[in-house]
Amino acid sequence: MKIKIGDIGFEVKEVDDSYCGNNMGKTNTKCGLIHINESLNDDIKANTLFHEILHVIACNYAIFKDEYEEERAIECFANGIMAFIKDNKEFFIKDIVEK
Ligand SMILES: [Zn+2]
Repeated sequence: MKIKIGDIGFEVKEVDDSYCGNNMGKTNTKCGLIHINESLNDDIKANTLFHEILHVIACNYAIFKDEYEEERAIECFANGIMAFIKDNKEFFIKDIVEK
């Protein structure tokens, strides 16, 4: 799957556990690659992809100076925003995306 984040195209690939270094996801902003661990269930894959997308956005806008702080914030925002979108799908699509 190809996605665009900002002006940059990213290839999203599902890869095995060992390729992902036992992480749920991994992003290479220099190569435009996002790897998602194929062993995850669909909900966790979606959450992990969203998490990696937020890392790319944070990188594009140089939001964080500290990796630990970035990971903490991204984890919080990814989980919170995904839960909000899932809990409010109709509102999110009609009143935010399609408006
Ligand atoms: Zn992360």
